[in-house]
Amino acid sequence: MTRMQQHKCIGLADCSELPSEVVCYDEPMAKHTSFKIGGPADLFLEPRTYEELLACLQMVHKNDLPYFLLGGGTNILVSDRGIRGVVISTRCLDKISFTGDVLTVQAGATVESVCEAAEKHSLGGIEFIYGMPGTIGGAAWMNARCYGSSISDVLRQAAVITSSFQCETIDNDPELFGYKQSPFQKMKSCIWEVSLQLQEADRSSLRKAMEENLADRMEKGHFTAPSAGSLFKNNRDFGAPTGQIIDELGLRGRVAGGAAIAPFHGNIFINQENATADDVLSLIRLAVETAWKNRHIRLEPEVRLIGDWAVEELAFLNP
Ligand SMILES: Cc1cc2nc3c(=O)[nH]c(=O)nc-3n(C[C@H](O)[C@H](O)[C@H](O)COP(=O)(O)OP(=O)(O)OC[C@H]3O[C@@H](n4cnc5c(N)ncnc54)[C@H](O)[C@@H]3O)c2cc1C
Repeated sequence: MTRMQQHKCIGLADCSELPSEVVCYDEPMAKHTSFKIGGPADLFLEPRTYEELLACLQMVHKNDLPYFLLGGGTNILVSDRGIRGVVISTRCLDKISFTGDVLTVQAGATVESVCEAAEKHSLGGIEFIYGMPGTIGGAAWMNARCYGSSISDVLRQAAVITSSFQCETIDNDPELFGYKQSPFQKMKSCIWEVSLQLQEADRSSLRKAMEENLADRMEKGHFTAPSAGSLFKNNRDFGAPTGQIIDELGLRGRVAGGAAIAPFHGNIFINQENATADDVLSLIRLAVETAWKNRHIRLEPEVRLIGDWAVEELAFLNP
């Protein structure tokens, strides 16, 4: 592969400014998603430093390429046809530092490593999220929520790289966050670093809370098969959790190809056996259409559908 690569889908991408270890072509996304599903990304970039991340973003901009920022891949369903354009993975940007009770974390650090580091320093406030897979950048972008708390409850600041390649610090403004909503979703920015405001806490109590959260997730079957966690958002207006609604509609355990609506939870869709993205999509469609027909409610996916989907394939989501 030459550094100036003529690719069937992305055209001429000049990666000559990037170290060769950072660049991969036709990378199977199934290797980078918790669903273990997804076709190839035309160009897959894995920067290891701030400078490399900036160079990736500048290359994408210079070549006018579409791109997707990938955290842990735990809240996405990637098309079987893959992703046309560029994926920039934050996986190697994972440094964690402390200043007093403020923890500053690069976006690609895993939620697990952040919670472990906080616990080691006897700092509490983030233990509620222990056991949730993914990165802290993805959690901030999604405003991840577990056991009644959201990441915005402890977020102090985020440093983002804007579309003009400036690093800007954004202070937490609670009014900009909502249920699974963050201001980052409206920006075309890359979260580079996140600062969390924690408080001194007893280390053994933190460890106990973390272990209890993890045990609860294990008991609920979160890790029994590849998935992306809850498929649909909950909505108070529905009067019941989405999992319960899907259950009441008689869809729990329903199978399509290698995918299934988990027999143990109506809102967790699983890759049971070599499922394709199309298998999962057909179950999403079944749930959406059945909920509309029987209850007149519109289920909204929390999991993001990424990559090369045809507009008609997704039309059922916005009828
Ligand atoms: C078993 C299981 C249990 C789960 N439980 C929960 C739960 O309890 N609560 C909950 O809220 N979620 C849960 N999830 C879903 C998921 O783990 C979270 O949404 C998580 O925060 C996603 O992080 P990620 O790094 O994997 O993001 P990804 O899936 O990689 O990306 C999600 C979105 O964030 C964007 N993004 C990621 N990093 C950046 C960045 N640095 N800059 C800009 N944008 C970025 C991506 O572009 C994408 O749009 C669960 C998933 C699984 C598999």
